[in-house]
Amino acid sequence: MAIRKVDYLLIGGGLASANCARWLREEGAEGEILLVGREPDAPYNRPECSKGYLRGEESREEPLFRPGEWWVEQQIELLTRTSVTSLDIEARTAKLSSKEEVQFGKALIATGANVRRLNVDGCHLEQIHYLRTLGNADAIRASVEDAKNVVLIGGSYIGCEVAASMTMLGKKAMIVMQEERTLERGFGKQAGRFVEELLQDHGVSIHGEDELERFEGEGNVAKVVTRAGLEIEADAVVIGAGVAPDTGLAQRAGLEIGEKGGVRCSSRLESSATDVWAAGDICEYESVLHGEHVRIEHWDVAFNHGKTAALNMLGKDVAHEVAPYFYSVLGDWGELEYVGPAKDWDEEILRGSYDDGEFTTWYLKDGQVKAALTFGRSDDLDHARRLLTEKPVLDASQRAALGDVDSDLSA
Ligand SMILES: Cc1cc2nc3c(=O)[nH]c(=O)nc-3n(C[C@H](O)[C@H](O)[C@H](O)COP(=O)(O)OP(=O)(O)OC[C@H]3O[C@@H](n4cnc5c(N)ncnc54)[C@H](O)[C@@H]3O)c2cc1C
Repeated sequence: MAIRKVDYLLIGGGLASANCARWLREEGAEGEILLVGREPDAPYNRPECSKGYLRGEESREEPLFRPGEWWVEQQIELLTRTSVTSLDIEARTAKLSSKEEVQFGKALIATGANVRRLNVDGCHLEQIHYLRTLGNADAIRASVEDAKNVVLIGGSYIGCEVAASMTMLGKKAMIVMQEERTLERGFGKQAGRFVEELLQDHGVSIHGEDELERFEGEGNVAKVVTRAGLEIEADAVVIGAGVAPDTGLAQRAGLEIGEKGGVRCSSRLESSATDVWAAGDICEYESVLHGEHVRIEHWDVAFNHGKTAALNMLGKDVAHEVAPYFYSVLGDWGELEYVGPAKDWDEEILRGSYDDGEFTTWYLKDGQVKAALTFGRSDDLDHARRLLTEKPVLDASQRAALGDVDSDLSA
């Protein structure tokens, strides 16, 4: 088959690729843009999979990055249900699962992440789910229609959000997790306890410092058995045990992989190969803000990476300097927002109060703000972004001001 030629090949049908395509056109790229994604849907906002879409409040179209006609108007060719199976960096060619071969000028690799699977006894029973795609969300919704008890394995944001969504659907949700407190790995025990109490107040049961031992049932899952010996009735199970960057294609192509398991990139998001960029969950980039290479699995990071990669593909030579932002929505009970991430910290300063359900927690290391988490105080995040970017070492009175809701942080 003849090789077809494109100027820009965007590999992966997620947000990072989609926003890269958008910014290529917005910044005047005139050549051919081809976006190849293996899912059946056009690029969509994955976070909806655990929120409104999971609860059946949104149509299949609502989470889409852009409606179908937008791709046509922008003259961006979108191939869904198609994988890039190999990439030859020297020859600048890619093979597709459709058997087509594509010659590209510049490429973006944004293949995202895959869920970590737990290989325990009973893991092949029916009604045990992972959650990454709209299709997974459909399967979970169908599975819980007649369910009473839904067990979530994992206490990170997927477990918490799905527990909230299941509760809103009238199910009894139970979380089993290794941590003592929900979300404590990212936000510490105090904020973790706040989230946990919020979930418990709405009826979610939480079993911390425990672990999945096995599933029991015949055909369908019926029971979750934990290492501590708990036996929990389950009509359906959703596992949220983290993800691993999908770097198989990148590795086979010989791209350098970093210490955090992602495609190692410069601050401009260019990989070890000239004219091949990476973005989103797989991108391990040299962060000007953090002073080291980081890899961050957040929606907003994928979104902004897409733009930075596009600008650099067009020769603008810009470093990726956006402070990483994360949000997590717990049903209609409230929203956590965060900038960071802080790898470790030696001080937490609380502005507001966990008891009142309105707070910002500042995470500091050696007197510098490394991250901030807020619930109901979004305005504080602008200050957090400034402190993360300017990196001042705060003295005692400045640290006291962070904790005082009446102090003006912009001063
Ligand atoms: C249920 C859920 C809820 C989330 N909620 C939040 C949230 O509230 N807040 C937040 O900040 N983040 C959230 N996230 C994380 C966020 O969605 C991701 O960080 C973001 O989607 C990453 O975008 P990406 O484009 O890098 O990768 P992905 O969205 O994973 O997209 C990559 C795409 O590439 C495809 N692909 C892989 N290999 C190939 C190949 N060889 N050829 C063609 N296509 C390929 C994949 O199938 C996939 O469609 C959530 C994630 C999930 C799963």
